[in-house]
Amino acid sequence: MPRHPSPNEITITFPDGGIRKYPKGITVEEVAKSISEGLARATLDAQFNSQHVDFDTKLEQDGTFKLFTFKDQEGKNALRHSCAHLLAASVLELYPSAENAIGPPIEDGFYQDFELPQPISEADFPKIEQKMHELAKTWLVMKGKEVTLQEALSQFKKNKYKTELAKEFGKEGKKITFQIAGSFIDLCKGGHVFNPGKNLQYFKLSSVAGAYWRGDQKNKMLTRIYGTAFPSKKELDEHFWRQEEAKKRDHRVIGQQLSLFSFDETSPGAPFFHPKGAVIFNELLSFLREEYSKRGYEEVITPLIYDKSLWQASGHWEHY
Ligand SMILES: [Zn+2]
Repeated sequence: MPRHPSPNEITITFPDGGIRKYPKGITVEEVAKSISEGLARATLDAQFNSQHVDFDTKLEQDGTFKLFTFKDQEGKNALRHSCAHLLAASVLELYPSAENAIGPPIEDGFYQDFELPQPISEADFPKIEQKMHELAKTWLVMKGKEVTLQEALSQFKKNKYKTELAKEFGKEGKKITFQIAGSFIDLCKGGHVFNPGKNLQYFKLSSVAGAYWRGDQKNKMLTRIYGTAFPSKKELDEHFWRQEEAKKRDHRVIGQQLSLFSFDETSPGAPFFHPKGAVIFNELLSFLREEYSKRGYEEVITPLIYDKSLWQASGHWEHY
């Protein structure tokens, strides 16, 4: 006879297929600690039945449970996306008339877009980073709160980007959620670290660029600030060390130092090959031709220049 499930117990299934019983109402943090204290400390984000849960969420039913650390893409994204919010909050404190737009995680970091009352440069980064460290200490948690469209429009009446997004979510019948950390409120669907004050310590802003709102050149050009975040100072330092090393080995730099090729502003991105460079170019070409014929391919020659409509159709145009 199968045992009747106890009304005070829930069954949790882990990604490795392991199944454990826990008292009903156990928190996410307690489940993490029951696996290991170290894992609980390294946990950045978690899902229960494919929904984001907070560290203090009480689990009341059976389900599948996943914890994310920095080793997981979800953990990386949670850390870096949370850091983009911290950047937004700090810039809004330093420049009260600024408006923040979106701030997603990207490969190796994050960015956050702003409409700013004045241009900024990398020289402003130390001041902004200092404000980020200051604010992070007051961000004990980052909690989601579902709100009505009216509440969102009233909260973001001075931010045309958030207003536009809120109206769109409303029209599409999507949930509208505020994310609240310290005294900062943003419009976002979630996916943040449990403990921003502790998790957001090792970050660095890296560059600033222009970017059109929603990638459309008919829209206003915004200021995009790039940065990155790691769970420890060691990993952050190593990241920038690797970037410096890669710069030294950049083929565009080495190739010019060895006089293999050079660039001219009349043809950015397409090099002029010098005699030694032309030897390498031709050797590579003959190697490729041999490989084609071994594998039964025939050669064709396509145009070097196309009309921009091709790139517009392929979706690459905005990258140029
Ligand atoms: Zn967010």
